[in-house]
Amino acid sequence: MAITIHNLGFPRIGKKRELKKAVEAYWRNESSLTELQEQGQAIRKDNWQLQQSQGVELLPVGDFAWYDHVLSTSLLFGVVPTRHQNETQTVDLDTLFRIGRGRAPSGCACAASEMTKWFNTNYHYIVPELTENQTFEISFTELFDHVKEAQALGHQVKPVLVGPVTYLHLAKTVGEFDKLALLPRLLTAYQHVLSKLADLGVEWVQIDEPILALELTPEYLYALTASFNKLQGQGVKLLLATYFGSVENYLDDIAAYPVDGVHFDLVAEAQDIEKINERIAKDKVLSLGVINGRNIWKADLEAVYNQIQSVVSSREHVWLAPSCSLLHTPVDLALESTLDSEIKSWLAFAKQKGHELSLLKQALLSGDITSLIDYSAPVKARAKSLRVNDAAVKLRLDSLTKQDGERTSPFAKRQLVQKQALGLPILPTTTIGSFPQTKAIREARRDFKAGNISEADYTAQMQNEISYAVAQQEAVDLDVLVHGEAERNDMVEYFGELLEGFAFTQFGWVQSYGSRCVKPPIIWGDISRKHPMTVNWTEYAQSLTNKQMKGMLTGPVTILFWSFIRDDLAKPIIANQIALALRDEVVDLEKAGINIIQIDEPAFREGLPLKASKWQDYLNWAAYAFRVSASGVSDSTQIHTHMCYAEFNDIIAAIADMDADVITIETSRSNMELLNAFEDFDYPNEIGPGVYDIHSPNIPEVTWIKQLMKEAAKKVPVERLWINPDCGLKTRGWQETQAALKNMVTAAKELRQEL
Ligand code: GLN
Ligand code: ZN
Repeated sequence: MAITIHNLGFPRIGKKRELKKAVEAYWRNESSLTELQEQGQAIRKDNWQLQQSQGVELLPVGDFAWYDHVLSTSLLFGVVPTRHQNETQTVDLDTLFRIGRGRAPSGCACAASEMTKWFNTNYHYIVPELTENQTFEISFTELFDHVKEAQALGHQVKPVLVGPVTYLHLAKTVGEFDKLALLPRLLTAYQHVLSKLADLGVEWVQIDEPILALELTPEYLYALTASFNKLQGQGVKLLLATYFGSVENYLDDIAAYPVDGVHFDLVAEAQDIEKINERIAKDKVLSLGVINGRNIWKADLEAVYNQIQSVVSSREHVWLAPSCSLLHTPVDLALESTLDSEIKSWLAFAKQKGHELSLLKQALLSGDITSLIDYSAPVKARAKSLRVNDAAVKLRLDSLTKQDGERTSPFAKRQLVQKQALGLPILPTTTIGSFPQTKAIREARRDFKAGNISEADYTAQMQNEISYAVAQQEAVDLDVLVHGEAERNDMVEYFGELLEGFAFTQFGWVQSYGSRCVKPPIIWGDISRKHPMTVNWTEYAQSLTNKQMKGMLTGPVTILFWSFIRDDLAKPIIANQIALALRDEVVDLEKAGINIIQIDEPAFREGLPLKASKWQDYLNWAAYAFRVSASGVSDSTQIHTHMCYAEFNDIIAAIADMDADVITIETSRSNMELLNAFEDFDYPNEIGPGVYDIHSPNIPEVTWIKQLMKEAAKKVPVERLWINPDCGLKTRGWQETQAALKNMVTAAKELRQEL
């Protein structure tokens, strides 16, 4: 029995976001290409060394990317959209940045390629753009350079490639044609890459085909078989890596691929490891992804040992690895100096996960599990901890009923009551919540957190900001005002800090896209609300105006998916805990005289499972959690929600099921096309389609806004339409915001006469 520890990929941003700092300095022309290259090299060197120090034996290469690994793959094969090509048709680092960002230090500004979510993670990749006569030729040699770099450092490496079929699956076509028709040409290029790697003395290459965790059409399944038939025999051994879900549906196909090893993700979804062991021929390497590559929790190694021990001992050679690339995990827990020590004892970041694999290997080889029991003692303690398990929360959750997720009356009745109570004109105008986060605001918040200004001073300054925002909104004569969210740095962090059960890290960054990173809060315990969170600010804002002041909350589904989620409770339960905490806030806002309350759910779509057959179950519990948060109030209180992403078609029924009185959405850039889903579905409640693209400093003209709203009125009756921007205005400046909102209100007033 031999065991090898390997890694599918390591976070490339560096321990303290060194990559972000390096590329952004380069983009600003503050550092040279050589300096940038040196920084990248230093990060790679560090990463390999760090993994090796923890006992990882076969190190990934090709997991480093300046911007995105799918984009690196495009460059490797010379897939560069025409608008991003330079005169000499050469491909370099600036080509890469042009595709990702729409511009690069060497010039040329043209629309960046689209970016979209990498499977069900919060990482976003750059969508390859393929033409019908696309050619694929090795055009960028970084992969090979990095292999040589690692070899020069004495490392044993395993290059990682996005698999050809996953690559095509993720790509979009320029013009209409069947992407899979490009496969033969693409495979020839992959063959060249593999034989070049063989020439460099590489033994193993990892081919990532995460699409196997989806539900695939026969065409894609066939393409996978065809692909492995072509890729074998290039002088390297192939490890097929699957992750993000169970691939049990395709186990027969997978077992028949002419590859030398297969990696399975044993944590994302339940899979029958005995069955896998039976089907994968004994002369192939079986790679067991047993440590969760997407969370920050310490593993229960004793449980993992019991899960895999008999399979491991039945095979000649087993590899151990995290479930997927560690791209989705922060680098090193040891850097955290302010985390509560008990909470810290429950966690493991990328580096620590390597150590977990080492402990596991030693125990499997020796049969002695003492070290596993010692290591995972905190995990067991956590399961029983009274800090984690709050009996009152459990009791309340257990008594949740279907009715708790229902308003008193159906929408049609509520609408009448609200029309009476709120006294709004038709086509009411409002905004999505945040107003410009000026330097002064950010500084005040920082000073307050650092203890440099008193709570009283901070409150006074925030109240000043609120009254400024209210005055601006009154000046442009908006109908429904907001307080502006000056006191919030981030829409999830703000609530996390005020709720029980959340912790925050100093360096827990994970890459979101390009140089952007997020630092998700950690949900470690049962969630409850000890005190009102927004009532004082909102009440203060309402006291300044006779207009309706809209309360502003982040919804349960969004708080859930933008956090690191605890691994010992099912997601719907955590969502309901958050929902109940928010419900109390909604009720308190109503008591404080707030008649309109918005509960934002921009991440609603993000929770969709990879397998389409599981969507409905998710949509049911997600919509229920939202309704629980919203349903503690009387009919006359108007509940809004907000979402900002394209594509409502396939989830429109669930959006209707949320039963918000008003939903505001991002539509301006789609010329109201996104409303078609609402029209086709006969969506019954009120809708505010965005008329102002907040991603740009451009000020929308009155005629433009009117034209958009006229378009909207063809799809949704005017009595059910609102007028608002696409999203929050926190990244805009006050001047442009003022001008844009003024135009919006003018458009509304004119339309009220015309429609
Ligand atoms: N209320 C939030 C804001 O205006 C909504 C942000 C979002 O949808 N992402 O900033
Ligand atoms: Zn938004």
